[in-house]
Amino acid sequence: MSKDKTLCDWSKKDFREKWDELRALVECPRYACTKCGRAAAKKSVLCKPKTLDAPEDSDK
Ligand SMILES: [Zn+2]
Repeated sequence: MSKDKTLCDWSKKDFREKWDELRALVECPRYACTKCGRAAAKKSVLCKPKTLDAPEDSDK
């Protein structure tokens, strides 16, 4: 399994098998994926990350 796989690509099985990793990533989310709606502490694990601090239209 690739270490570069984003959280967005995880399957339900991945979520169960890598629960500790998932928990660490979503515990204090600072970014959300604008494509999938998932949130994580690291932008590198999301395919279309956007900082949660930013106003809605800041990257337009
Ligand atoms: Zn995504």
